[in-house]
Amino acid sequence: MELREGVLKVGSPFLGVVNQRSGQLIQLCYHCHKCTAGCPVAFAMDYGPDRLLRMIQFGLKEEVLKSSDIWICASCETCGTRCPNEIDIARVMDTLRQIAVEERVPIKERNVLLFHNLFLSILKRTGRMHEASLMGLYKLASRDLFSDLGTGLKMILKGKIPLLPSRIKWRDEMRDIFERNS
Ligand code: SF4
Ligand code: SF4
Repeated sequence: MELREGVLKVGSPFLGVVNQRSGQLIQLCYHCHKCTAGCPVAFAMDYGPDRLLRMIQFGLKEEVLKSSDIWICASCETCGTRCPNEIDIARVMDTLRQIAVEERVPIKERNVLLFHNLFLSILKRTGRMHEASLMGLYKLASRDLFSDLGTGLKMILKGKIPLLPSRIKWRDEMRDIFERNS
């Protein structure tokens, strides 16, 4: 605990903001690389989670918010589970996405914000993801009608994507969560 209080005092203003909004202490990261080694999508990122945390420590706000990493992160929480300092990197990534949207930072990944918003709108409405709806809405909104169509159809035919959506019982509670965080 003493160490946690001590390290809290050092760092850039950007580090302070990300710490405060994510509820994490990013200074605790000593770059053991375990998070990036386990991240299933690190290969597609600009930096990978451990380097991104280092950049936050150094206050490289613009580079961090413009990176593909924050949008490619799938929030799978593998990194947080592996971290010896219990840093919840998925929450850090979420915070970075929120700051990037608030500050209208240009997003490198084409249509990623559209996908992200559609994903959340389905969860807000039904409490559960329905991939067929997501696929249909995304295709229409992005006007990218034909890419991956074959893969999508194969998955539907194999029963991997149900055609009808299902809903959870506690939809009001789900809406409350969204409203508390909006
Ligand atoms: S696993 Fe934790 S301490 Fe290690 S590099 Fe990643 S965030 Fe830093
Ligand atoms: S939460 Fe994001 S950064 Fe962490 S392992 Fe999963 S995809 Fe990678």
